[in-house]
Amino acid sequence: MTETDIPALLALRDNPPFEKMHTVAISGMGPVGMVAALRLAQLGHDVIVFEALGGLSAEARASTFHPSSLELLEQLGVVEELHAVGLKAPIYQYRERSGAVLSQMDMTLLEGETAYPYRLQSEQNNLTEIILGKLQDMPNVTLRFNSPVARVERGDRHVRIHLEGGHRDEPILAQWMIACDGAASPTRKSLGIAFEGTTYDDRFLVISTTHEFREDLGEDLAYVSYIYDPTEWGVLLRTPNHWRALFPVTDAETDEEVMSAENMEARMQRLNPKDTPYEIVHRNVYAVNMRSASTYASGQVLLAGDAAHCNNPLGGMGMNSGIHDAWAAVECINAVLTEGVDATHAATLYSELRRDAAINHVQARAQKNYDNMRQDDDAARAEQADQLSAMDRDLFEKREHQRNSAMFTSLRLTLGRLKRELHAVKAPAVSGGQKFSKLLGQGPVYAAGAYDAVSAKLVEQAGFKAVYVPGSAVSASVMGQPDLGYIGLAEMAEAVRRITAATDLPVIVDGDTGYGGVLQAAEAVRRLEQVGAAGIQFEDQLAPKRCGHLAGKALVETEEMVAKVKIAVAERTSAVIIARTDAKGVEGFEGALARAAAYAEAGADLVFAEGVYSLEELTALRDAVRTVVGGRPLMVNLSEAGDSSALPPLELAHEAGVGFLIHPVSAVLAAAEGIAATYQRLLTTGASGKGQEDWKQFTTLLRQDEQLERASRLAAGEA
Ligand SMILES: Cc1cc2nc3c(=O)[nH]c(=O)nc-3n(C[C@H](O)[C@H](O)[C@H](O)COP(=O)(O)OP(=O)(O)OC[C@H]3O[C@@H](n4cnc5c(N)ncnc54)[C@H](O)[C@@H]3O)c2cc1C
Repeated sequence: MTETDIPALLALRDNPPFEKMHTVAISGMGPVGMVAALRLAQLGHDVIVFEALGGLSAEARASTFHPSSLELLEQLGVVEELHAVGLKAPIYQYRERSGAVLSQMDMTLLEGETAYPYRLQSEQNNLTEIILGKLQDMPNVTLRFNSPVARVERGDRHVRIHLEGGHRDEPILAQWMIACDGAASPTRKSLGIAFEGTTYDDRFLVISTTHEFREDLGEDLAYVSYIYDPTEWGVLLRTPNHWRALFPVTDAETDEEVMSAENMEARMQRLNPKDTPYEIVHRNVYAVNMRSASTYASGQVLLAGDAAHCNNPLGGMGMNSGIHDAWAAVECINAVLTEGVDATHAATLYSELRRDAAINHVQARAQKNYDNMRQDDDAARAEQADQLSAMDRDLFEKREHQRNSAMFTSLRLTLGRLKRELHAVKAPAVSGGQKFSKLLGQGPVYAAGAYDAVSAKLVEQAGFKAVYVPGSAVSASVMGQPDLGYIGLAEMAEAVRRITAATDLPVIVDGDTGYGGVLQAAEAVRRLEQVGAAGIQFEDQLAPKRCGHLAGKALVETEEMVAKVKIAVAERTSAVIIARTDAKGVEGFEGALARAAAYAEAGADLVFAEGVYSLEELTALRDAVRTVVGGRPLMVNLSEAGDSSALPPLELAHEAGVGFLIHPVSAVLAAAEGIAATYQRLLTTGASGKGQEDWKQFTTLLRQDEQLERASRLAAGEA
């Protein structure tokens, strides 16, 4: 690896070639997944969306968009395009089979309350196609067709996704996942979440026809009608292209019988007798489920839409409530990502609110519609008719009924509680270890060395994302000694305390051999985490250790180092545990490989391959060690003290599993050289060569002016 590789590494960090940690993954490009994807992308998040099929599903299913959903789609910027391929249905009717209208709901009653006082009749795939057109142009969106999610695993603040058939880049990592993969959701199943509820004895038959029913039933036939009848109940509705009728089918009939041309014609003729046969353009028969997942959140996976709940289609609420889920899920995730809301709180609140909406609003209403439409008790039917006509006369009740069926009530409950409760629990401050883990998941991390507060500030000012504290530089700066095992835990902890106080970057600490045996290593983890270490590294040299680039090193037995790694993993709160092996220069590559595998097996998060390795060796090492977050489990040293130019080019090394690289001693070398030259100049010329400008620059690094200003404000009694 050469110095000229570094810009390439920084580019890789921002745009890694594979195994990047996505912010949010979505399974399913149905209406729910697509709404979630567009909303997240518009909020600036990185989104990856998986769809099992080779394109969008064109299945004829949902065709009614309620006003509450139209309001959300307006915010997404898709409502106009949807109107262009939709029909406004301001009226819906409850009718007797005879044709008599029991009650008529005129949604213009909601004028003033919503810009959309009507149902919009449009196929659900119109919405998914419009959204796809937008997502395709967004740089922060990755769309993957032919990519069925097979299973997911919950990680610590992330999700691992496996696709059917296995892919090169698996597991795919994301901080969050929204499962929108339909009622059979493999995501839900792989998380072991129960899908509780019932399947109706009835199946439903849906038939679409080119016939214009208004010619027979009159121009006042609404675009949506619910037909009440003990046996031949059903729904008649208009989509932009066709009329669609829905009938119940008993379990006495097979699907073949139901779908036969004679049977379908007979059903249509019973609904509306006419002299000529119906031209049927689409038919489907399906089982009807009323089910809900036992929870809508598992770790950072949220279930939405049919993956979370399904209900009978009477009232047209399945997709609409799914769109509401998608909205709420994105609100929660966005609040965690951008406003410091606690992730567990957000996921729990989402689950509670949307499960309540699905069970107590949507399913309850859909079940009531089903019971009312097929009521066979004469007295009960008469009472229902009375209630409907009473509602017709009561404007207040009618408006309330319309708010409910437009799904405003359930959506407003969700949004209201999110507004009040979502921000109530803030996430605890993020530890250095969590920050470092997250960075490792996002791409290669390149750290420069620091040995005191000023050099740490300079690492941050230069734009590095992490600080590395090498034992060698601390040994030199604190004791004036070479890297031969002079410094102990006390000196290192003090240096780290000063450094972590001076920078917000994660600080990764070279903990030498652990300063003794297993017990001392445990104490080192405790002390170094106390002073803010984000990562702690131990090596397998025999104490007193010597610089990794020197000859004559000796190693402890593998078992002793394994024990140190295990105790470090057990003791740490969140720090990343790094196991360094110096075996390449002592036992050769085979020894290094065996040790690396053993240390990874013991729980090390990263394996530090000290010494010079070829690309093939790095690849073999990567394959021998457990996959950590981000899939790059190796750390290498680019130190000027060794021959790092012999390492493979950076991009290849990265693909071979290198995720953490350090330039540990550049700072101490630069400081020594600069100080030496300046002092020579002083001695020979009487002047250092530095002046006021240099001092100004230096004090700016220390934020001197900012602090003086603050002191003045405080003295003047300002906050
Ligand atoms: C006849 C009928 C009429 C209906 N009418 C209405 C209505 O008018 N209004 C209404 O609100 N609701 C209605 N519904 C319900 C509505 O269709 C569903 O609630 C809605 O489709 C749910 O959307 P979804 O995105 O959650 O799931 P889906 O639409 O089922 O989409 C899931 C997507 O995930 C994909 N997928 C599946 N498995 C995987 C996997 N492993 N990995 C990746 N992708 C996967 C699928 O291919 C699909 O594209 C109706 C349903 C039926 C059957």
